[in-house]
Amino acid sequence: MARRCRSWVHPPFLRDSLVALDQVVGPRIFQRPGSRVAQMANTMDKAKRLSPKILFKGKSNFFGVLRARIDAHFAGRNRRDDPRLYLKSVIILTWFFSSFALLLSSSDWVPQLLLCVSTALAACAIGFNIFHDSIHQSFSGNPTINLLLARGSCALLGVSRYFWRYKHNVLHHSFTNVFQWDDDLETRGCLRMSPRQPWEKKFKHQHVYCWFLYSLATIEWIFVKDFIHYFTMRINPFQPYPPMSKLDKIEFWTSKMAYFTVFLGLPFLMQPVWTCVAGLMIFHLTLGLSVTLIFNLAHVMEKPSFPVPKGVTLPTFESEWAIHQLATTVNFGRDNRLLTWFSGCLNYQIEHHLFPKVSHTHYPEMSLILKRTAQEFGLPYHDYPTYLSALKSHFRTLKWLNESPRVSSVFVAKPGDSSGITSLEETEPSRWFGRTTIGP
Ligand SMILES: [Zn+2]
Repeated sequence: MARRCRSWVHPPFLRDSLVALDQVVGPRIFQRPGSRVAQMANTMDKAKRLSPKILFKGKSNFFGVLRARIDAHFAGRNRRDDPRLYLKSVIILTWFFSSFALLLSSSDWVPQLLLCVSTALAACAIGFNIFHDSIHQSFSGNPTINLLLARGSCALLGVSRYFWRYKHNVLHHSFTNVFQWDDDLETRGCLRMSPRQPWEKKFKHQHVYCWFLYSLATIEWIFVKDFIHYFTMRINPFQPYPPMSKLDKIEFWTSKMAYFTVFLGLPFLMQPVWTCVAGLMIFHLTLGLSVTLIFNLAHVMEKPSFPVPKGVTLPTFESEWAIHQLATTVNFGRDNRLLTWFSGCLNYQIEHHLFPKVSHTHYPEMSLILKRTAQEFGLPYHDYPTYLSALKSHFRTLKWLNESPRVSSVFVAKPGDSSGITSLEETEPSRWFGRTTIGP
């Protein structure tokens, strides 16, 4: 029975077209000599790979106490499958599909412009609320529901589930704000997002032009970055992805083809070309800016630290993982109900980093327990009162990072040389540090 289902889902013609895309068309487009993928693959081949993990040596009873308090708070109640999250998802999906349908049938430029922005914001809400939770397995206790929602939302957004899951769930959540491990700090040389990144003259005005680059984020992600990752299987010169299975590859191509057919093909069939091009740009500029101005405000800020592990073979932190998360993550605008609803509680980032498998709708109530426990243990609980204050801090951080080489560049492991990974903690300005070895 299982075999029959598989053959129905992947009939030979579909399988053959996917194989052709994978082995013939893709490499011709992305791996021709001189292409960006070929150049990156060349750089990557020369780079030494970093250790796939970092050891957190510290041990305190902070996280044990916190978990016990959170357990007592839930008192056996289900932490996932929250009816509020199901209702919210229905509202967001209705918002998205109705905006998109109206956009396709509209012929006047004013409603088209407004509907483009509306569709982009709805797509952003899908990303924050459905895509992010389901890939973390925090939407439902049923893995099949999470998988279906994750695959469905990836097809709607045009992004690869496989690469996001590894880059975000594994690297970002495990090694937050650690340069060369946390890919959220990686802008492929366009911006300096960490004091550990070597300073270059080109970053001098990054706080001015970052708006423009942020707005291109989803265009690069969907149309370029995913394919670079697919054909190089490296997240950056130092970090490889685990190999993809056949099913992962089929999912990658099916999801991309579905997205390109519905969200590129359909508009071009129903609207004039120039309207589609303009609409596509407005859609992605809105989406890219909205996504980056939520995710970046949780880490690239003045309050959190950018710690460096000691050692090369097995890089090690003296602190423990939970305390590392407190030291490198911030919350913002917790009283802003609209922001909390729209961002899927990503403004409660500390709660999310410590409890990523709990549905985000529970974070506001958990934050009271978490803040109290952190304070009892003398640990930081970085919090910006409003979204605007967080936004200002983010841009002050980018400005501070561009002004001069604040941190010696000897740390950075150049391709082929990982010996530079030594502790810079002694030379580091204290504002970037926070406390990394804290305990009661
Ligand atoms: Zn996450």
